[in-house]
Amino acid sequence: MNEGLRRLGQAIGERHLFVVGGAVRDELLGRPHADWDLATDLMPEAVMSKAKAAGLRALPTGLQHGTVTVMVGTEGFEITTFREDLDYLDGRRPEGVKLGVSLEEDLSRRDFTINAMALPLEAVGAADWQARVVDPVGGAEDLRAGVLRAVGDPLKRFAEDGLRPLRACRFAAQLGFDIEPATLAAIPERLEVARRVAVERAFQEMQKLLTGLYARRGLQLLADAGLMDLWMPELRPMIGCGQNRHHRFPVWEHTLGVVALAPAEPAQRWAAMLHDAGKPPTRSVDAKGEVHFYGHEAVSLEITEAILRRLKAPHELTHRVLALVRHHGVYPGSEWGDPACRRFLRHLQEDDLPLREWAAFRLADMLGKGFGDEPYRSDHATILARLEALEAAKPPLSVKALALDGRALMALAGRSGGPWLGALQKHLLEVVLDDPAKNTEGVLTRIASAELKKTALD
Ligand code: ATP
Ligand code: MG
Repeated sequence: MNEGLRRLGQAIGERHLFVVGGAVRDELLGRPHADWDLATDLMPEAVMSKAKAAGLRALPTGLQHGTVTVMVGTEGFEITTFREDLDYLDGRRPEGVKLGVSLEEDLSRRDFTINAMALPLEAVGAADWQARVVDPVGGAEDLRAGVLRAVGDPLKRFAEDGLRPLRACRFAAQLGFDIEPATLAAIPERLEVARRVAVERAFQEMQKLLTGLYARRGLQLLADAGLMDLWMPELRPMIGCGQNRHHRFPVWEHTLGVVALAPAEPAQRWAAMLHDAGKPPTRSVDAKGEVHFYGHEAVSLEITEAILRRLKAPHELTHRVLALVRHHGVYPGSEWGDPACRRFLRHLQEDDLPLREWAAFRLADMLGKGFGDEPYRSDHATILARLEALEAAKPPLSVKALALDGRALMALAGRSGGPWLGALQKHLLEVVLDDPAKNTEGVLTRIASAELKKTALD
């Protein structure tokens, strides 16, 4: 057994502790989980005093919900007293909780049957642990069948808490499960409750959905159930938006494909969902009947920024997603010269976007066109190898990398700084982007002197 759990059992009393919720679900699935949520029949004060008596630190992290966090070394265990949620007032959180109910009552307040099981701590690690799972609402059977089913009446449960429909789609995306028909049908009936969920919570669920193993399924569910429109109405027009001969799929199907193909990392997946959002508003058909999306990258950027701002996404993530979207349409091909490739590397560097990340996204976007793997994969490998070789040579890509710094240029000109300096540095950078061998003090001094003379004559 997990050493922390064992010590916790010694301190609090094994018979008082039950592993509940996600940990039981994930143990049954043989899936790793980050933490062990525990429930107890003891009151929070009793948990605190028993923990302290055994020399463990106990923190009152959520006393109003009956939760105490007990530290075993650096590992924290949340222990929550069996509770029942009182009436929900605003579709977000209950008016209060009632402690001192039975384990079965505690399990019945939980969202989905697969999350409503408990395992007595005494049974953890035992040979017959699976048979000792407390499962009053048939969670184990739904787990075997791969079904997400609300505990009780889904219309009622989704009216209580608007986060649950999002969690349903998120679990579908992580586990590859189906949402049971009545549970699924209840989601569109309760959108007004879901709308009131704090955007930070919605963002977190969507991020878990997008990085799930079955993100494509989760995103399609989000769209079908109408949840997508609550926070990202700009994405709806992608559905049914036809493309051109460069694509096998319409915009939405392509988007789902790129979401599935991009690395399962937050920025990549958000970018995958959003990168072509600018296509529907820029779609045009020319005289020959060919479809175009002129300037869609810029519109995708605007939409991406608006959505991530609305969802209060972390700044760092937004920065990275915008960089991926901004550069997704660039096609460095074999016809590109080295200077053009270096200028491309410079743009990536300006956006703090590592070449590998751009490349991974670009490959997903290419494969998402639906024409199979080849020749995209080998073309991609060739282009990436070339860009990597150029990058490995550490060419000067920014003004900072010039062999003559601002101070040296001011000394050369005999002038203090001003707009002239920036213009001169930009000129020198263009010179060394064309030919990095020119990035020496001597050569740049010569070029700068000539430029200064020229501008003095102007
Ligand atoms: P994760 O793998 O993301 O941790 P989880 O199911 O453990 O998934 P938590 O948010 O850690 O999710 O919640 C722990 C448990 O609390 C859940 O398994 C479920 O039993 C219950 N729970 C969480 N959120 C809700 C909710 N909105 N409504 C009802 N029960 C909930
Ligand atoms: Mg959990």
